[in-house]
Formats: sequence, structure tokens, C-alpha cells
Amino acid sequence: MLEVKDLEVYYGLIKALHGVSFEVKQGEIVTLIGANGAGKSTTLRTISSLIKPKTGTITFQGQDITGKAPHTIVAQGLSHVPEGRKVIGDMTVLENLRMGAFTRGDKGEIAASLDEVFARFPRLKERANQLAGTLSGGEQQMLAIGRGIMSKPKLLLLDEPSMGLSPKLVEEIFSIISTINSQGTTILLVEQNAFMALQVAHRAYVLETGRVVLSGDAKKLQKDEKVRSAYLGE
Ligand code: ATP
Repeated sequence: MLEVKDLEVYYGLIKALHGVSFEVKQGEIVTLIGANGAGKSTTLRTISSLIKPKTGTITFQGQDITGKAPHTIVAQGLSHVPEGRKVIGDMTVLENLRMGAFTRGDKGEIAASLDEVFARFPRLKERANQLAGTLSGGEQQMLAIGRGIMSKPKLLLLDEPSMGLSPKLVEEIFSIISTINSQGTTILLVEQNAFMALQVAHRAYVLETGRVVLSGDAKKLQKDEKVRSAYLGE
């Protein structure tokens, strides 16, 4: 579904990605794990065209999307839930969710997606007319994911969904991620919480200073010595 090939990305003179390649197949949850600054967010931002790579290509459903306008990529079925949630605090929950559907025209279908989001996140329904800025951190993360779903993505990019959440909410968010995937959405998940990410993912890639240094089946990587000592705190 997604093929990323030889991405090199710079911030000015700083080289953040040194030829990153990986793929995501339809139906999978693939996770990119790695320490702070490894290049995980940069990879997601490049895929959704918020940053242009110096070299490399991104192919989504057989089409080269490298450097295309971000909104056309969303319309093609690729949605990005950014790090730090980035909900609009002075807009209501409902307005934030509707904004997620900005590339879609069919009002009936948008209403159906809204019902789906409310069914999955009952707390958002209860707070539909509340300003997003007044929600708790966990609720804001649910809103950010809900807004991502409103564009009806085939592939959902999630950047650090567990960041700043209590252990109980982290469990809840990962369970939601599994459910969204089992209902047909392919997921590319960036996480510093390697333990939880490897639990829910099918496959994983380990990034270190802008390079993929290890990849494979998530359950196998959970047992890998290097992964255990560097990322699972053992
Ligand atoms: P984090 O979890 O902290 O976001 P990450 O793995 O997502 O880490 P990136 O944010 O992609 O890492 O950062 C990769 C490299 O690019 C780091 O060296 C970082 O300092 C640098 N970098 C990221 N954003 C910028 C920016 N806007 N300007 C300059 N350098 C940046």
C-alpha cells in the first residue's frame, strides 16, 4: 500500500534522514520505533508532504505522491494524526471533527463517519459542543484520532499517540488502534513506547539517527537482544 524508498531529508544543513526505506502492506499495523530525534516524525511529515525530501520516493497505492500537495494526499486516503495532538482549542469537538472531513463532499457520508467516531469515542459525543481546549489530554488524543478518521483514510499515520497519557489511557489508545485496524484501516504508527507498539503491530522498523537499523516481525523484534536492551529497558 505504501512504499518509501531512499528518503533523504534535510532541515537546512542538518541531515535528518539518511536514505530511509520501508513498506506498509494493506491491512497491517507497522510501527517505526526509535529514540528521541531518530527521525520518526520527520518520516511521517515527509510522507504527508509537509516536508519535501531531497531525494527518494513515496508510492501510495501504486501512485507516486512525492512532493504532491498535502490536501490531495489526504483526498487519496492518507491521513496524518500529528504528534502533540494539535486539536484546535477554541473550536468545539464537533467543529474539529468536521474539519477532518474537509476533502469530502457527500454530507450523508460525512454524517455516517461522525456517527462512527461517536460510537467509538462516546466521550467525544458527550462533549461534542465543548471547546476542544477544555478536554483532558486523553480526550484530546481521542479527538485527534477521531478527526483523522473523518477523512475516511485507507492509511492512518499516527505520531506518538501515547505521549503524555496515563498507563490506563495508553492501554485504551492502543486497544482503539487495534480495533480501527481490524475494521479495515491500515496503520503506520510512530512510537517511543516500543513495548506497546510492538504488542499491537504486525511488523516494525527500528530507526537510529535517520537510518533503518533493524526490521522484521514485531513479535520477533520483541525478543531481539538489541531491541530489548535499547528500547524495552531490559
Ligand atoms: P521525537 O520523538 O523527539 O519527535 P523523532 O524520532 O520523531 O523524535 P524527528 O523529530 O524526526 O525525530 O527529528 C529528527 C532529527 O531532525 C533530529 O536530529 C532533530 O533535531 C531534527 N529536527 C527535527 N525537526 C527539526 C526542525 N524543524 N528544524 C531543525 N531540525 C529538526
